[in-house]
Order: sequence, then structure tokens, then C-alpha cells
Amino acid sequence: MLRDEVGQDLVVGIEYVLRLDDGEEVDRSDADEPLQYLHGRKNIFPSLERELSGLSVGDTKDIVLSPEEAYGARDSENIVEYERNLFPAEFEFVVGSLLELRDPDDADHVQTAIVRASGSDTVTLDFNHPLAGETLHFSVKVVSLRPATQEELAHGHVHLAQGGH
Ligand code: ZN
Repeated sequence: MLRDEVGQDLVVGIEYVLRLDDGEEVDRSDADEPLQYLHGRKNIFPSLERELSGLSVGDTKDIVLSPEEAYGARDSENIVEYERNLFPAEFEFVVGSLLELRDPDDADHVQTAIVRASGSDTVTLDFNHPLAGETLHFSVKVVSLRPATQEELAHGHVHLAQGGH
């Protein structure tokens, strides 16, 4: 296996900028900390992995992912209208804002939703991923490549120098 090209079980460092069809930038890697992922383990979108395969350090590539290859289509069934009185009266629903809803029986289970409408009797919450239905335009630069450690291979993901997950 080539060690100087992006391939299976290598830890790949990338700088990236993510834009939508209209050019709006919605995400980018940290200026001083590139994203690192373990290639071939579905840590990132499989289509993105496939497009990065074979690149070398210093290579750049523009990669377009369809909604199906990324966060999926928007589903109208994920947009739900609730009775306003299910929520505390003092809680303010700001249209367009992102909410985190915690399951009272399972504190680890957090769902995010976007407020689509807020009236005196009902509120409408959209549980689709904020980027569902979007075509993603990645500009990517490969900045590092190294073999994964045994521990990383066993876990199926990258361990950063600090030892965190
Ligand atoms: Zn781990």
C-alpha cells in the first residue's frame, strides 16, 4: 500500500471550506488545527472519502456532494406542529433559531430542531438536519498523512495528541 497517498487506514489531515450552491460559507476547518480523520472507516461522508483517495500532501480538490451523499433530502414528516402549552410559557421561540431538546427520561439523548413558526397556540419545529437538502461544495487541501496507531485502528477513529476522543 502506498504511504504517500490518501488510502485505507491512514490518518489524513485536511483543511476545508464548505459552501452551499449560492456560495454561502457554512463551515471551515480550524485555522491552526486541520481536521484529522481515519480514512476508510466512514468517519466522514463515504463519497468525500472516495474523492480524497489517492491525493498527496499539498494536493487541493473541489468536491461536490449531492444531498443524498451528504445529509439527505429534506423530509416534511420531520416538521412538526406542537401545542404551545406543551412548553413553559416563559420560553421564547425565535423563528429561525436552533433549539436543543433534551429527553427528560434520557439526558444523553439530545435532538436539535429549528423553529419554523411560533404563534400563540402552536409552534412548528423542523427536525431535519440544517444542511438536509443542500448540495455541499467542499474545497479541500490535504495537509498531513500518517499511518494509524494500533489503538486507532482498533477504535476505528483518530486519537489526537492530547489523548482525547
Ligand atoms: Zn478511541
